[in-house]
Amino acid sequence: MNGRSFKVMIVVLLAMSALGGMVMAKTTKQAKAGKKCLDTAIIVVDLQGDFTITEKGSLAVEGTDATYVKSVQDATARLKAAGFPIYATQDWHPGNHASFYTNHPGKKPFEVIKLEGKDQVMWPPHCVQNSTGAKILLDEKLLKAVVKKGMDPRYDSYSGFQDDGGKETEMDNILKKAGIKKVVIYGIATDYCVKATALDAVSKGYKVIMVKNLSKGVAADTSAKAIDEMKSKGVAVTDDLDIEKLEEI
Ligand SMILES: [Zn+2]
Repeated sequence: MNGRSFKVMIVVLLAMSALGGMVMAKTTKQAKAGKKCLDTAIIVVDLQGDFTITEKGSLAVEGTDATYVKSVQDATARLKAAGFPIYATQDWHPGNHASFYTNHPGKKPFEVIKLEGKDQVMWPPHCVQNSTGAKILLDEKLLKAVVKKGMDPRYDSYSGFQDDGGKETEMDNILKKAGIKKVVIYGIATDYCVKATALDAVSKGYKVIMVKNLSKGVAADTSAKAIDEMKSKGVAVTDDLDIEKLEEI
């Protein structure tokens, strides 16, 4: 071998090892991303017509205009594209549900009464089973599963994990079977269903991230309190969704 071909060989070898390193780095990165996606799930809480202004819902929450709904739809699509499994909760009440003021003669909307020993807000009828207002405002193709709640006429069910009577939904089973350890939660409403779902997720042993700007609350003061309570109970509250950073939280 002459000097020149030796040099060429060295250059070729160096190029090959650099290429190998790049391929390995890429594989490691993909494996990491895959792992991250495998044990982290997204729970979109109650993104339903009746809770939004854009659909003229019966219990439309402030700030749930078209821009907000689109931001949730887009963020959820991005998370799905990044490989995260997406779950949604769906308020799904029978017409005779105890949380509807119309089922309590003389009661007015938003009055608080005692029901089974607990404070119960008298809500306008909403998310009645099979009604247009109960529809989830996300492309069904994005969703791995929908967990329905609030079917028992006696109890309200803010949490996606259980109703106020203590009866569990399918949520914990579904997540455990899928090997989920961390959940990212956002939706409607910050001060009710998002909070209750996040706190139950913590108590069931999940690591929980709540995304504030993808959530809207019924009232500013109760939403601020809800954020404080979630933080104090171990929920990582983040202002915006940063998919790259989800792993670090
Ligand atoms: Zn409800």
